[in-house]
Amino acid sequence: MTKSTAAPATRAETRAELSRVPYDLLVIGGGILGTSVTWMAAQAGLRVAMVDAGDFAGATSSASSKLVHGGLRYLQTGNVKLVAENHRERRALAGDIAPHLVKPLTFVVPIYRGGPHGAAKLGAGVFLYSALSVFGDGVGKVITPQQAQARVPALKTDGLRAAAVYGDHQMNDSRVAVMTVRAAVDAGATVLNHAEVVGLRKTGATVTGAELRDRLDGGEFGVSARLVLNATGPWVDHLRRMEDPAAEPSIRLSKGAHVVLRRHEPWKAALTIPIDKYRVSFAIPWEDHLLLGTTDEPYEGDPADVRPTEADVTQILDEAGHAVLDSQLRREDLTYSFAGLRVLPGGPGRVAAAKRETVLTRGTGGMLSVAGGKWTTYRHIGRVVLDTLAHLPGRPLGDDLADILPAVPLPGLASPDAVAMRLWTERDPGARMDPLVARHLASHYGSIAFDLARLIRDDPALGERIHPGGPDIWAQVVYARDREWAVTVDDVVRRRTTLTVRGLDTPDVRERVAGVLTG
Ligand SMILES: Cc1cc2nc3c(=O)[nH]c(=O)nc-3n(C[C@H](O)[C@H](O)[C@H](O)COP(=O)(O)OP(=O)(O)OC[C@H]3O[C@@H](n4cnc5c(N)ncnc54)[C@H](O)[C@@H]3O)c2cc1C
Repeated sequence: MTKSTAAPATRAETRAELSRVPYDLLVIGGGILGTSVTWMAAQAGLRVAMVDAGDFAGATSSASSKLVHGGLRYLQTGNVKLVAENHRERRALAGDIAPHLVKPLTFVVPIYRGGPHGAAKLGAGVFLYSALSVFGDGVGKVITPQQAQARVPALKTDGLRAAAVYGDHQMNDSRVAVMTVRAAVDAGATVLNHAEVVGLRKTGATVTGAELRDRLDGGEFGVSARLVLNATGPWVDHLRRMEDPAAEPSIRLSKGAHVVLRRHEPWKAALTIPIDKYRVSFAIPWEDHLLLGTTDEPYEGDPADVRPTEADVTQILDEAGHAVLDSQLRREDLTYSFAGLRVLPGGPGRVAAAKRETVLTRGTGGMLSVAGGKWTTYRHIGRVVLDTLAHLPGRPLGDDLADILPAVPLPGLASPDAVAMRLWTERDPGARMDPLVARHLASHYGSIAFDLARLIRDDPALGERIHPGGPDIWAQVVYARDREWAVTVDDVVRRRTTLTVRGLDTPDVRERVAGVLTG
């Protein structure tokens, strides 16, 4: 199939560059935190490299609840300031940074007879929640059971006394992550996925780089840097022990699983289902499906082995069943399930918290480690970490970092409605793009969808759907290979497209995708 133009450096070129150039900063871990720091550091004029053992956002950062939110539950613990900060960042992402990728969503909290919270308390809670974002998404309020059911037809109404409503946002986390990697590269960063750090380079007692193994061909190489940041999420202590075998644990892990089900009716809103006084479970319309979860269980195994179990799936379906009709919770509608690990502060060695739940430590060899926090506030965390790196004793990064512009958008910034309309009307009637495909491309690529349209113009076969059950098309696979660092079938089917979450990554689809990747 056709190659898209202006392809970035090949893996071999990137490896050669990584081995040759001494960097200011090496970021280990290409989840959203590592990517954010890389993006910020490149914007500040640093020479920065980022590597990931697997795919970018292949771990926790593609296993989230996909919410860009203020965090209603923080109100329960009185953390009003944190909610206001999260809201600010949420609204910046949805307004200035990535309106093409981050979408508004109404949330309904059903209030049942005998449930953990009463209508007065929840009503006051959602009002305060909306006030903390200056009512930018409307006023949080209490509505009737009928009004709630009009928004969510699959809502159980037996014993339903009222519901509370509020506004937040949602995204496709893997796509926002890959767009952020691209923003970092556009700003001058060098990145490589499927490249695992297997050891640290030291000059004297100071960490000055890393030894890597390319997981695709087993090739070994090294990267030198003035400063190394460990942003490996659940693996953060593993890397800290590479620096200092005696390093004490700095975090604890908690597993959260989700399931994805085929949806039978349109949902105009998501459900926030109170399970007990403290926990909620979500039922969220996402990618034309229903996303349910999550669980919260201590986890002590190898982070690479985290998976949803049968018991997790049962728990998630049971908890959704508090508020969702059984007809929408059939196991045969399950298309995908996944699990990720929350990183929680724990153990000694915690030197600073950039934000609640974000752990920042500095080891004996001078390596900085960051873990935890929220997807929603990733730009904020990136800026705080960069600021910390810039002001370390001895100033290893020097004194001349440029100021970062306050609101640099993600690539493809555009109104998704305008992009979808153009994609649809651009061609003659009869040869027009399916409106569903146009909308899908516009809301996952923004104006970059026009690059995909150009690929289709050159090779109309690339406009065909990969599977008739979903809107993903072959041009996305070519683009993922040539412009989005996709090298394995899972990179494409799970994270650059929505094939896996829709349950459409059949053996035939996987084989044909593999053919494009090697072609
Ligand atoms: C169940 C769940 C639901 C969540 N829901 C939300 C939500 O709805 N909204 C929200 O705002 N936040 C949410 N979060 C939080 C958010 O997802 C995380 O804070 C965020 O993804 C953490 O990103 P990270 O980059 O620190 O970690 P990760 O994404 O795990 O990245 C770490 C990376 O390091 C790499 N790595 C590990 N070892 C090495 C090595 N030796 N060499 C090279 N690379 C290595 C890994 O491959 C991995 O890609 C949720 C978290 C969980 C667990």
